[in-house]
Amino acid sequence: MTDSYNENCIFCKIASEKIPSKKVYSDEQIFAFHDIAPVAPVHILIIPKRHIETLDDLTSDDALLVGKLIIVAKDIARTLGIAESGYRINLNCKRDGGQTVFHIHAHLIGGKSMGWPPFPTT
Ligand code: 5GP
Ligand code: ZN
Repeated sequence: MTDSYNENCIFCKIASEKIPSKKVYSDEQIFAFHDIAPVAPVHILIIPKRHIETLDDLTSDDALLVGKLIIVAKDIARTLGIAESGYRINLNCKRDGGQTVFHIHAHLIGGKSMGWPPFPTT
């Protein structure tokens, strides 16, 4: 179990509303807000309020929390009108996964058609 709050972490500050964000959802465990640099018409970050640095730090005790994170994300997708057209939920882990903020977060991205795979193939 990692500490619940890390004072050097930007997402801990956002989740505790010590610094402002465009909030879309909050409950006891989960916080969601608009990404500051959206890559699509809808780009929301869904985070646990508890500071967990990477997916690699999760344990089986976190199963319910991670499940809730996904359920909150899909509910936000419906609220924001992209449930029918579809969307992507992305979780990046460490360097090769493209993680830049070390407090786990799910990206909910939608409102435009996306390709696959997510990296150049040439
Ligand atoms: P990662 O690359 O770690 O998967 O994603 C980090 C995301 O956090 C990026 O999409 C970036 O735009 C977003 N981000 C970083 N700092 C802030 C911030 O201070 N506020 C908000 N709303 N988003 C941020
Ligand atoms: Zn944090």
